[in-house]
Amino acid sequence: MDCKNAQTLIGGYLDRELDPVQSLEIEDHLHGCTACSQSYKDHQVLSEGLRTGSVYFKAPAGLEKRIQRAVRQAAKAESAPRWLSWSWVRMAAPLAAAALVLFTLMPFLRGPSTEEILTREVVSGHVRSLMANHLADVVSSDQHTVKPWFNGKLDFSPPVEDLAKQGFPLIGGRLDYLDNRPVAALIYQRQKHFINLFVWPSGSDSDVETKTVSRQGYNLFHWTRSGMTYWAASDLNNAELQEFVQLVQNQT
Ligand SMILES: [Zn+2]
Repeated sequence: MDCKNAQTLIGGYLDRELDPVQSLEIEDHLHGCTACSQSYKDHQVLSEGLRTGSVYFKAPAGLEKRIQRAVRQAAKAESAPRWLSWSWVRMAAPLAAAALVLFTLMPFLRGPSTEEILTREVVSGHVRSLMANHLADVVSSDQHTVKPWFNGKLDFSPPVEDLAKQGFPLIGGRLDYLDNRPVAALIYQRQKHFINLFVWPSGSDSDVETKTVSRQGYNLFHWTRSGMTYWAASDLNNAELQEFVQLVQNQT
């Protein structure tokens, strides 16, 4: 080990931070080198002095408290007039962000809306009626046969109109189950397309504007008028189905 190395390692040696090999090497060097040996002694004295506190001055009594008081007063003077200080903003921002995320996700967390559920039920009801060859419980084009057929089967009397003259002949009627209740299904035909017109009491006096929606290739129209909810479902094109809806609305 040369002097340069020894000088850089003296501090570590003094603090017993060197590994045994390095310690032996530096000890060896210190024995044979007066300059480094003197340097080591100087280090020792300095280190000892720092440890025993001869160069350490104790802060005067009460200084700590005076500083704390001054800092508190300064902080108060600065933040008192501002109700919404930055520390508040820093705390509130992540909460606001979390609330925003939750609010955005709410519709997904809640699942489909009642209207969406009903839309699916109506489509299922329409598809089922065509699948099971169970389109009508009462097959008749006569509204005076179809309307009384519902008596005793439902707790309401659905408005039944034959629309044959307007190109939508009445085929018959059927009981179905939608929105957790038995409903009337009136079946109309347009060429080779069938239309299911589901009717049940809305449970409210307020009318609801006509809305249209498409699902799985079927067109749907629904509205509420005079205390009755109507859903028309068909694979008929939207324009012709709308024509049918207008006719029904004019009759009721
Ligand atoms: Zn040396």
